[in-house]
Amino acid sequence: RFITFEGIDGAGKSTHIEALAQRLRERGAEVLCTREPGGTELAEQLRELILHRPMDALTEALLVFAARRDHVQRVIAPALARGSCVVCDRFTDATFAYQGGGRGFDAGVLSQLEQWVHGALQPDLTLWLDLPAQTAAMRRAQARAADRFEAEDLAFFERVRAGYAARMAAQPQRFAHIDSSLDKAAVRAQIEAELEQRGW
Ligand code: C5P
Repeated sequence: RFITFEGIDGAGKSTHIEALAQRLRERGAEVLCTREPGGTELAEQLRELILHRPMDALTEALLVFAARRDHVQRVIAPALARGSCVVCDRFTDATFAYQGGGRGFDAGVLSQLEQWVHGALQPDLTLWLDLPAQTAAMRRAQARAADRFEAEDLAFFERVRAGYAARMAAQPQRFAHIDSSLDKAAVRAQIEAELEQRGW
């Protein structure tokens, strides 16, 4: 099973990924937690460049997909083939949301890159932790070190959010829309309900 978490910066992905992994392990699953951009040595190096060097939107999209290619080939596909459950912090939906929605890069080109890079491989379930950009900004202000994306304004993150909404509209069957403006326990309960609904 391939499960991905998506959402704008400050949505609370890290917290809920950990909780989900623990829950799956308690039920006997072998779980691999990983993240994008990153997840391999090469992809983590690309992540550093993507997060901290200024670049145009096409370069950014190509580097994100290059990192993803390495990650899928070396880590995600082999783990799924062994029967592990893979839980990934962001995947291609983030590219449609950030480079597409946020930066305004052409979604048709992104779809072609997606086909090239991971053809038929899609998540079985994508948990989109959704909340208003304003709420996420308030949460971010209390946490973590900044990268160049976190310095973007509210309008950017609302465009990213709209990018996620468009992706969900196009592939509704694999998406679960989670209201992440609520407190942790309430978000966790929504995630739990999604898993139970699937008999996981
Ligand atoms: O989720 P995480 O904090 O690890 O993401 C790192 C940064 O990379 C975030 O600021 C996110 O906005 C950015 N990002 C991006 N395009 C992607 C994936 C992540 O701009 N495709």
